[in-house]
Amino acid sequence: MSFDPATPDGENASLTSAISADGTPQPGTRYTVPARCGVAVRLRAGQRLTVINTHGTQVGDFWAFNAEALDEYMSMEHIRVDLRSVFPKAGDRLFTNRRRAILSFEEDTSPGVHDTVMAACDNDRYQLLDCGGYHDNCTDNLRMALFAIGERAPAIPSPFNLWMNIPVTAEGALDFLPTVSGPGDRVIFRAEMPAIAVISACPQDILPVNGTDGSIRDLAFEVN
Ligand SMILES: [Zn+2]
Repeated sequence: MSFDPATPDGENASLTSAISADGTPQPGTRYTVPARCGVAVRLRAGQRLTVINTHGTQVGDFWAFNAEALDEYMSMEHIRVDLRSVFPKAGDRLFTNRRRAILSFEEDTSPGVHDTVMAACDNDRYQLLDCGGYHDNCTDNLRMALFAIGERAPAIPSPFNLWMNIPVTAEGALDFLPTVSGPGDRVIFRAEMPAIAVISACPQDILPVNGTDGSIRDLAFEVN
């Protein structure tokens, strides 16, 4: 069977969590990304998206697509080349797979620990972690969040994993550690082109990336 990047392996409330029919936000309104779900938001060039780690312990998988051609999207591979770093920081531009800035990373009130290395979780990943039946996952949340505003995922780009604590040692080893952010920490991105951003409150409750108690919590965002 051929692989359709837009079709989820299962369903959750991401399908019914759109903020409006086409994802256009009301400026200044605070929206919730429900725990374990994903939400898409449409940005005009020049608008600022603030993502808030309401409880401080939650990782958010984060994507941005060119709203006029979704096969151009924020690309971790291209960002790492441009920044010569695996850790983008406030002040950095964030490139697409066409090496154009789609977002500027303007502010970060957290300690600045985010990840660009790990692929988004998907149902197959959870089966490898011995979860048994279907498990909510960020890949399906991306697919459903785009469906919910009338769009289709053209691919599953590697996400910018906000607040995900994946240390990289000098030897190149990786680990999965709890976030080091605090309640109310926020990151602010400026859209450099018309964009659709998607945020998933990562449902990873097998590894301790969302804290050691296995509790998945909501995130929040607003556009100004
Ligand atoms: Zn995830």
